Amino acid sequence: MKAVILAAGVGKRLAPITQTLPKALLPIGSETILSRQIRQLAEHGVEEVFVVIGYEGEAIREHLAASPPPCDVFLIENPDYRTTSTAYSALLAEPHVGASPFYLLDGDVVADAALFEKLAAEDGNVLIYQPKSISSPEEMKVSQSGDSVYLSKTSEGEAALGEFVGAARISAGAGEAFFAALREQSQGYYEVALNMIAAQFPFALATVEEGTWIEIDFVTDYLQAVRMFTEQREGVTPLISEQILLCPGPVMVSKKVKSALLHSDIGHRETEFIEILTRCRAKLNQAYGVTGKDYTNVIITGSGTSANEALISSYGPGKKLLILSNGEFGNRLIDLARCHEVDHTPLEFGWANPIDLERVEQLVATGEYDGLMVVHHETSCGMLNPIDQIGALLQAYQVDFLVDAVSSIGAEALAVEKANITFCTASANKALASLPGLSFVCGKKSAFQALKGQKARTRYLDLYRHYEFEALSFQTPNTPAVSLFYALEMALDELLQDTVAERMRHYGYLASLIRNRLKKLGLQFVIEEEQMSRVLTTVYYPEGIDVEEFHDWVKQNNYVIYRGKGPFLGKAFQIANIGHVREEHVRSFLDIMERGFALTQTKTSVKQ
Ligand code: PLP
Ligand code: MG
Ligand code: MG
Repeated sequence: MKAVILAAGVGKRLAPITQTLPKALLPIGSETILSRQIRQLAEHGVEEVFVVIGYEGEAIREHLAASPPPCDVFLIENPDYRTTSTAYSALLAEPHVGASPFYLLDGDVVADAALFEKLAAEDGNVLIYQPKSISSPEEMKVSQSGDSVYLSKTSEGEAALGEFVGAARISAGAGEAFFAALREQSQGYYEVALNMIAAQFPFALATVEEGTWIEIDFVTDYLQAVRMFTEQREGVTPLISEQILLCPGPVMVSKKVKSALLHSDIGHRETEFIEILTRCRAKLNQAYGVTGKDYTNVIITGSGTSANEALISSYGPGKKLLILSNGEFGNRLIDLARCHEVDHTPLEFGWANPIDLERVEQLVATGEYDGLMVVHHETSCGMLNPIDQIGALLQAYQVDFLVDAVSSIGAEALAVEKANITFCTASANKALASLPGLSFVCGKKSAFQALKGQKARTRYLDLYRHYEFEALSFQTPNTPAVSLFYALEMALDELLQDTVAERMRHYGYLASLIRNRLKKLGLQFVIEEEQMSRVLTTVYYPEGIDVEEFHDWVKQNNYVIYRGKGPFLGKAFQIANIGHVREEHVRSFLDIMERGFALTQTKTSVKQ
């Protein structure tokens, strides 16, 4: 007996695990999925196994060479695995199986012996399925009409007998017709070819029970397979790679940025630190898009809030501030002014409401205010506020302009000089794609100098002290997070090499993938698309899903999204595409999200 295993696919829904490893080589106990299938086939009378390989095919070849299988195994290469489907892979087996009967097995099926016994029990054509009612549009369903058996992803869930297990026996007589049918529709699934020959060559149906097999499409399937088919020994954990963060910071960083932490130890009062501090500040100016003529910056060890706190507590005393807010991070600026007893007027528009420039102008025109502060990208809803327009307005009234650009620097256009921004804060761990722990205040040199002599409200966050140390003696007032400067420099190098314009294009493309899929699913955004930044999408959950269960499901599949805040908590969630996020992460997440919606929806409606 012969068998054909289809193992050419990329397994993108299993990313990031499959980014370096084909699905077939995922370990199930001491075996891999593939070596387990080959052993089981051999135990049920198969003498020759043909494995169609594509993605990471070399790794499969090496694996089989390193641990020789119990029967003859031949590899068939599908070089076009990225653009072809299973029908094409199956067709490549034609010259090898010839006129013999053979078993056809999906490379992602992990099962116990029962499946192979069922295959071996019949002489003719056999299809194996698991009886159950299914709603998922992804699964191949088996249904019967008269004497004929059909396989389809689209057939009505209720009418179907159950889910196709991805295992079939093709008889000697049916083989020729099967391959002819594959040739006719080689772009699709091989199951379509089975349908095409089903009337002429009837298939016997055999069933396997739930819990005796699983198809590995998602990380959760893999984890379940490990639980089902291996003895769970303490300390033995299945292969899981890192989580993919799709939340608005901290973000994923590149390997190079992480590796930069492993520099040799240096003293922070030595030339080595002076050098890296100076380089980082110069590169930061470039990232802010300012020239060193009029602008400079300081790097503070602390999260984004420490930059905002340094700014408000140092600039604020003796001045009157107008602070705009349309969400959580605007509110935090107001709170900082309150903490430091800075005279201020909070102008709140309500969460996720656009800024009303007329009202802003009315207040600014009173001449009462020395400065205005606003968040560029209001991260709590993903809205970009109109910095250029506010900047022009303030310039006309000669009011200082303070901007929190914590979540926008590196991802959005921000013309600091053109908008005549006085001070602008940011942090390392958002769109600059470095690690958390460093924050920045970029500002006019004249504005830094004007802080001289101002009585500081805090010691650590005295902005003038930072300026004096960093600009005048190239040091920091206190112990800096030395290693983070190495990571920051690497992240800035990567950004400046890519260019902000290219990053913007990349982020915009990822956001369009996310938004198009959400729209296709009929979901509602919290704000208008034109108001959104290119790194964050805030969207209402579909009706009737169990929100926590949905989050758990996504997390089990290694993706981390953000639950949202304030009035949106429990109603909307956030998908960020910021930092070292790649297209395949986004695509794979969207599939997982969609499946998560379907799963957690069904459960809720059963509960009702
Ligand atoms: N400002 C904005 C716009 C933010 O998005 C955040 C954090 O998400 C902060 C300030 C606060 O930064 P941190 O949490 O690093 O203190
Ligand atoms: Mg399948
Ligand atoms: Mg599959």
